[in-house]
Amino acid sequence: MTQAFVGLGSNINEPAYQLRQACMALISLPNTCLIAVSSVYESSPMGPSDQPPFLNACAQIDTTSDPAALLTALLKIETTMGRVRRRHWGERCIDLDLLFFGNTSVQTERLTLPHPGLYQRDFVLKPLADLLGNEYLMPNGVDIGTLLGKCSTHSLRLSAVQLDLGEIPGTPL
Ligand code: ADP
Ligand code: MG
Repeated sequence: MTQAFVGLGSNINEPAYQLRQACMALISLPNTCLIAVSSVYESSPMGPSDQPPFLNACAQIDTTSDPAALLTALLKIETTMGRVRRRHWGERCIDLDLLFFGNTSVQTERLTLPHPGLYQRDFVLKPLADLLGNEYLMPNGVDIGTLLGKCSTHSLRLSAVQLDLGEIPGTPL
C-alpha cells in the first residue's frame, strides 16, 4: 500500500461543488482509501489572467494501485465530470494532479512523478502543509515550510468553502 497525494483545482462551474464531486469520486476509486482532505484555498490563476480565481485543495489517499493506473483513474474522473481542455493552464471545472506517490519517481510521456510543479506552487504546498505539517520532508528531502518560503505566490487565501465530507467513508482495502 502506498501513500499518495492528489491536488484538486477548479475555477468554473461552481468550483466548490466541483471539488466536492471530485472528493466523492476519490472515495469511490477501487483499491484506494481517501484518508483526508485539506482546507480549501482560493488562488490567482497561474496561466492566462482572464479567468476566474481557482479553488484548490489536496487529498491524501492510500492505494494499492500502481501510479499509471491511478493517473488513468484520475483522468477518467476529470472526463466524467466534464473537463474540456481549451488552452494551456486555462479554465477547468476540475483538475486532478497526482502530486507524489510514496517516494516513487516516474518519467514517462504521460506521467511525471513527483509532479513537475510540486515544489514551486503555493496552492499545492499550503494544502499539503495542512495535512502533513510544515516540517514534513518532501520526496526531494526538503521540508514543506522551506519550499513554501521560496515558491512563487498566487495570492493564496483560505476559502470559506468547506468540503464537509464528514467522516470519510473509506472502503477497507
Ligand atoms: P495541467 O494540470 O498542467 O494544467 P493537464 O491537467 O491538462 O495539465 O494534464 C496534462 C497531462 O499531464 C495529462 O494528460 C497527464 O498525462 C500529464 N501528467 C504528467 N504527470 C502528471 C501528474 N503527476 N499528474 C497529473 N497529470 C500528469
Ligand atoms: Mg492536471
